[in-house]
Amino acid sequence: MRATIDRLELEKNTMQKYGYRVVDAIVEHWVHQKEKLPVTHATREEMDSLFLESAPEMGDDMNKVLDFVLKNVMNESTNLSHPKSFAFVPGPSNYISVMADALATGFNIFSGGWSGSPAAAELEIVTMNWLLKIFGFPVKQGGGIFTSGGSMANLTAIAAARRLKCGDEFSNAIIYMSDQAHSSNIKAIRVLGFRKEQVRIIPTDMEFKISLNKLKNAIAKDRIKGGQPFCLIASAGTTNTGTVDPLEDMAKICEEEGIWFHIDGAYGGAAILSDKGKKLLKGIDKANSLTVDPHKWFYQPYEIGCLLVRDHRWLKNTFTEKPEYLRDIEGNTSEINFYDHGIQLTRRFRALKFYMSVKTFGLKVFRNAVSYNISLAERVEQELRISENWEIVSPATLAVINFRYNPINEDLKPGQIDQINEYISKKVLVSRKALLVTTILNKQVVLRMCLINPRTELMDVLETINLCESFGIQKLKEGFIK
Ligand SMILES: *Cc1c(COP(=O)(O)O)cnc(C)c1O
Repeated sequence: MRATIDRLELEKNTMQKYGYRVVDAIVEHWVHQKEKLPVTHATREEMDSLFLESAPEMGDDMNKVLDFVLKNVMNESTNLSHPKSFAFVPGPSNYISVMADALATGFNIFSGGWSGSPAAAELEIVTMNWLLKIFGFPVKQGGGIFTSGGSMANLTAIAAARRLKCGDEFSNAIIYMSDQAHSSNIKAIRVLGFRKEQVRIIPTDMEFKISLNKLKNAIAKDRIKGGQPFCLIASAGTTNTGTVDPLEDMAKICEEEGIWFHIDGAYGGAAILSDKGKKLLKGIDKANSLTVDPHKWFYQPYEIGCLLVRDHRWLKNTFTEKPEYLRDIEGNTSEINFYDHGIQLTRRFRALKFYMSVKTFGLKVFRNAVSYNISLAERVEQELRISENWEIVSPATLAVINFRYNPINEDLKPGQIDQINEYISKKVLVSRKALLVTTILNKQVVLRMCLINPRTELMDVLETINLCESFGIQKLKEGFIK
């Protein structure tokens, strides 16, 4: 008989011991992550000197390899789930979903077609129905698919929009979005083979919302020139400022013009779970398609994005090999092959973590966490407003806030304010005590906090602000570059 190792197998108790070590390491990380520094720096040279080697012909001791990885990989990565990770859009995650992912991978369930795993497909249908209901989409007619993330959801949406609106002839098709729309939309448009002239970037107003007047002008002029306006992308929570475009007005324009209405709610969509967010997101239910990103504010570990559509046949008619334009009218309760609803054939079982975490915690816990995040950002805004050192550049919106160091007694010039805020962010990163970076708003350098981690306390933010102030004072002493 061939040896166990030749079947890439291990003895049962070896597997158990190894597995318990892995679980123990994950639990230790969860329990102690707050005490660790969120930021890691390393150069390529440093990483090469640790890891670079040829693929070894002979294996090594499993515990030795695990020790090496725990020490040098897991504990030497920047941690976007850390309560002091404020940059980009953090990924707070939750432990139930982490274990669900371990199960999904452990059983290696193929989540492509119904026959591959009926239960996996069913859970994707069930969780998709939860999301359709949460966002006010028609549950019976609507549909959707879990993707690797928001970028893939946007790509899937734009592919469907083009298929449904233009068919095979899209050389004059034009797509619209604001200058605050997420870069993944531009990437998707490039992947789909549109030319640069087929994209209209519409300016935003002082509050970073798309200018409706400029949008209407652009559509009208494009029609005169023989263009075919086919898709408008709204942001429901821009990544920069959390701003929600005027969704209801945009929906109306799309209806009048016969344009596909896609909403990118990758970051902000989940705010619908709170009363405040629900008000801000009014009109989100009017989209043809909606991107949300559970690995952001639905607290799921990477990777899980999601695309919802008003009519499940739109996805099927775009991605299936044999479109059944007329026959498939029975609603999404049928046995769905998700490989017919998106780009991937072999798919990991993403629905499981969403399902298990919502079943375990209940939606109410998610609602409370999102409400907490929104009110925490508002509380931070209050603190900064009454400080003589800080200026709010964009107020707390969907748990994002932009501000800058600009002491009232210093009378700094615009260029100096930019320099000092860049300096603060750099110094904070070097200290590794918080993940905080700048962004540009109205050509000004500002600090940005995205407060979607339910484990972030007001104290975590205030400590970070104090740290920033100490670096601000340092820069004032040091002086400015001319
Ligand atoms: C994060 C984000 C995306 C991209 O999502 P990924 O999951 O990173 O691929 C798209 N749009 C918006 C508004 C985002 O915030």
